[in-house]
Amino acid sequence: MSDCLFCRISSGEARADRVHEDEHAVAFRDINPAGPTHILVIPRKHIATLADLTEDDDALVGHLARVAAKVAKADGQSDFRLAVNCGAGAGQSVFHLHMHVIGGRALKWPPG
Ligand code: 5GP
Ligand code: ZN
Repeated sequence: MSDCLFCRISSGEARADRVHEDEHAVAFRDINPAGPTHILVIPRKHIATLADLTEDDDALVGHLARVAAKVAKADGQSDFRLAVNCGAGAGQSVFHLHMHVIGGRALKWPPG
């Protein structure tokens, strides 16, 4: 989808500070970091929200979670938060599925 920012980052059309990429996923630093580590993990496949996943995506979501743990560790974080905002009311602003990997500071729960 050429009008999707994260599809353009996935294809290389838009710049991002990439920390990981493979056949199915890309991870890059958030432009407005919420902590010392704030990395976004996205599928190359355009999926608008978590609620749009189908059974066919089960392996993909597992892969994204493993990439998230890997990039957190590579960034020096043993403790971190993995978050997905689903829908505008939950704070989603980019409608291409992404996992936030946030760490490097104390994180409160619930996030508010
Ligand atoms: P959401 O609010 O949809 O859960 O998260 C979207 C995230 O994408 C936000 O944390 C925002 O800072 C980040 N973001 C928005 N535009 C860009 C961009 O052009 N490049 C990067 N690296 N991050 C972006
Ligand atoms: Zn997209």
